[in-house]
Amino acid sequence: MSAVNLLDFDTASLGRWFAEQGEKPFRARQVMRWVHRAGVANVEQMTDLSKDLRARLAQSAEIRAPGVLKDSTAPDGTRKWLLDVGAANGIETVFIPETNRGTLCISSQVGCALECAFCSTGRQGFNRNLSAAEIIGQLWHANRALGADLLNGKRVVTNVVMMGMGEPLANFDAVVTAMRVMLDDHAYGMSRRRVTLSTSGMVPWMDRLRDTLPVSLAVSLHAPNDALRDRLVPINRKWPLAELLAACRRYIEGAASAPDHADDEDEPVDELRQVKWQRHAAPRDFVTFEYVMLRDVNDRLDHARQLVDLIGDLPCKFNLIPFNPFPDAGFERSTQDAVLRFQAELIEAGFVTTVRKTRGQEIDGACGQLAGQVQDKTQRSARRADAESAA
Ligand code: SF4
Repeated sequence: MSAVNLLDFDTASLGRWFAEQGEKPFRARQVMRWVHRAGVANVEQMTDLSKDLRARLAQSAEIRAPGVLKDSTAPDGTRKWLLDVGAANGIETVFIPETNRGTLCISSQVGCALECAFCSTGRQGFNRNLSAAEIIGQLWHANRALGADLLNGKRVVTNVVMMGMGEPLANFDAVVTAMRVMLDDHAYGMSRRRVTLSTSGMVPWMDRLRDTLPVSLAVSLHAPNDALRDRLVPINRKWPLAELLAACRRYIEGAASAPDHADDEDEPVDELRQVKWQRHAAPRDFVTFEYVMLRDVNDRLDHARQLVDLIGDLPCKFNLIPFNPFPDAGFERSTQDAVLRFQAELIEAGFVTTVRKTRGQEIDGACGQLAGQVQDKTQRSARRADAESAA
C-alpha cells in the first residue's frame, strides 16, 4: 500500500481517513496543526500522538511537498521558487514582501490551457492539474523557507493570491481543498479576505465558488469590449463580458438564495467540529479587475472610457498591471504616461484604481510572467511554430 500524502487532506477528509483506519477522527485536528501550523515534515515530530500511532502513521502516511529546483531572491526581497512536480515539469511560487504584509502567489496547474495572448504561462501549453498537496505544499514550503512560526504567532505569509501558473477554477476541487486548509484555524487560519482567487472568467465555476467557499475574487479583464477581449482572453468567446459581469454581481451578492449543496460531502464527521464556513456572504463587497496595460492595444483613453461605461455601478477596484515583456511576446509595455492617463480617467469616474508595482523583475517574479517548465501536452508550441513558419 502506498503512503498517503497528508498534504492532500483538509481537516474533514483527514478525519474520515482516520476513521477508516480505526482511529479517532479528532486526530485530524492534531495532525493538521503539526503539519501546517508547526510545519513538520515527519510524523515522528508529532509528539502529542502516542508512539504506537506515530509508528502506524509512519507506515501509512507521509508529508511530501514539491521539491525545490531553484530558489532566487531579487534585490527588492521578492523570492521565487521553481518547484519540481515530476516528469521534467516545474511550477513557480513567488513571495512578495511589503512593509505590512507578505503575499504568496501560488500556482494551480502545470501550464495553462487558456492561451491568453499576453501570458508567458499560456504560451507554454498545458500539462496537468496540480493536486491539492502540490497546491497547499507551496504555502507549506514557503512558510518553512521564510521562517514562519504559526504556533508562536510569527506569520510571514499574510496573504495568498491564486494568480500563479494556471486557471484555478479549471482545477476546482483541488484548489478548493487547498483553500479550505488556508482558511482552517487548525492549519493556516487565514481570513477569506486575505485569500484571493483570480480567474480569467470561467462563469459557471465562479458561481460554484460563491456557493462553496467564497474568497476574495479577482477577474482578469484586460479589455473593455468583447472584440478585443476575444483576442486577448480567448475564453471570452465562450463567456463574453455581459455573462462575466453578471457572474461578478452574483458573486458579490453572495449565495443567500443558492442551493446549499456544494460542500456537503466535506461536512465534519463524528466529534470533529470543524468550523463551518459562512457560505452566504462574499468576503468582500467588490471584485478586483486586473487589467494588463499593453501599448497601443488596450491602453488608450477611449478604452478607459469604454471600461467606465461597461462596468457601470458594479462595485469594483481596478488594478492596472504594467506588462512584463518576454521573448516573442508580440506586445509591448504601455508608457508610464499612458498608464497614468488611463488610471486618472478611471479615478475621475469614481473607481479606486491602483497600478501594480513591478516586483522581482530581476528574477522574472512578476505575476503573468511565471514561466516554470512545462512539458506541453497540448502541442501548442508545435502549432505555434507551424503557424509562424507558414506565415
Ligand atoms: S493569464 Fe492566466 S488564464 Fe490566461 S493563459 Fe495565463 S495563466 Fe492561463
